[in-house]
Formats: sequence, structure tokens, C-alpha cells
Amino acid sequence: MEAAGEAAPKALILFGPPGSGKGTQAKLLKQALGVPHISTGDMLRARISSGDQLGLEVAGLMQAGKLVPDETVNRLVRDRLAEPDCAGGFILDGYPRTLPQAEVLERELAGRGFDQVVVHLKVDYTIIIARIAGRRQCSLCGALYSLASHPPAVPGRCDHDGAELVVREDDREEVIRARLEAYDRQTWPLLEYFSASGHPFHEVNGSNESPRAILDRIRGLLAVG
Ligand code: AMP
Repeated sequence: MEAAGEAAPKALILFGPPGSGKGTQAKLLKQALGVPHISTGDMLRARISSGDQLGLEVAGLMQAGKLVPDETVNRLVRDRLAEPDCAGGFILDGYPRTLPQAEVLERELAGRGFDQVVVHLKVDYTIIIARIAGRRQCSLCGALYSLASHPPAVPGRCDHDGAELVVREDDREEVIRARLEAYDRQTWPLLEYFSASGHPFHEVNGSNESPRAILDRIRGLLAVG
């Protein structure tokens, strides 16, 4: 990560509940910093689309808003981090989500010599539910839209490639509630772990400002470590 004057966190962990804007910020940070964006959710969805064995195993859990087993995501991330484009740093979005995942990642990063920085995007649940309900994704390129704050120019069509915009299967309201419940029970306790880890840990209010303004805040925090 090499923007002028910016410190060089090797592994940037974007942490927060579903709908907090992790995916949007990860995409903006990827452009700004020129490092890969690693989203376990996107990797798992790609495996479901390809219809391979792993995809078949996780599809039911994901559609119910439940977490997939730690070993499955740990293996996906370990393999991804070994790819050459990760050597200069990367952004993790949606991983780690449980204490065992965080412990495995800690060892993995230490073993590979990466520093880590955690950014926690804090957003109220009422805002999250409204936000996810208005979320649409391009069925072709994965670009994200918000009907309220970032609608497509042509309703229902992606600005980049004109493909159809869809509601993600797990963005239906009853599934959102299950995902928030999984977050509360399994992921939220990680905040304590991160704040006690000794690695830089920052909190950003992701409720009100525009994605660009939040991006600037995050970059400002990265510049100080
Ligand atoms: P996301 O796109 O990050 O919201 O993830 C969508 C779904 O993928 C989650 O609701 C989980 O079912 C699964 N998933 C993604 N990342 C993880 C993870 N780190 N651990 C367990 N399950 C995950």
C-alpha cells in the first residue's frame, strides 16, 4: 500500500455487521491503495455459482444467514493469501468472523510477516436493515447499488455493463435478521479480542456520511497507523 504519506498496513481487516458498508469501503480502498480485496462472502458465492462440491456444502447455510464452518473459510483465505498479488498487502472483508478464525489468521499473518490493522465500521441496526433492504448487486460484475443513496442511472440495470441488478438471496429481510443474530453471537465478541490484541484498532462511524467521506476517514486513520 503505497499512497504518499500513508503508513503501510499490510493486512487491513474491515470489521462490522452485515450492511455496515465493508464491501463498499473495501472496493474503494482497493482502488485507492492498489491492493487486493478479499471477501470471503464473494469467494463463497463464486463457489456456489460454479456448483462445485464446496459450493453445494455451504449454499444452505448461507441462504439461511448462518456462518459456514471455520475450517472451510480458513482454508479459502489461507490459499488466497498465498497468491502472489497478496504479497504487498490486502484488504480482508468479512473475515475473520469468529474467534477461532481470528486466531488462525493471527498465526497466518505472523508467519507471513504481515502487520495488521483493524477498522471497525459502526452502524445502527435500524439503519442496517433499511440499507440492506435497498441493496442491489449487478448479476455480472458484482457492483453494489443502494436505491436510497447510490441508485443506478437506469433502474434495475448496472451502470458499468447494463446487466440486471438483483437482490442477493441472503439480503431478504428474514435472512438479514438471522445474519445480524449470527453477528451478535459469533462475531461481535471479536471486538474485545481485537482491542486487546495490541495491533492498531480504529472505530469509524459508518451510519451517516457518504461512502467517500467514510473512505477519507479510514485513509486518515491508516496514515497514523
Ligand atoms: P458477506 O458477503 O460477508 O456478508 O457473507 C455472506 C455469507 O457468507 C455469510 O452470511 C456467511 O454465511 C458466509 N460467510 C462469509 N464470510 C464468512 C466467514 N468469515 N465465516 C463464516 N461464514 C462466512
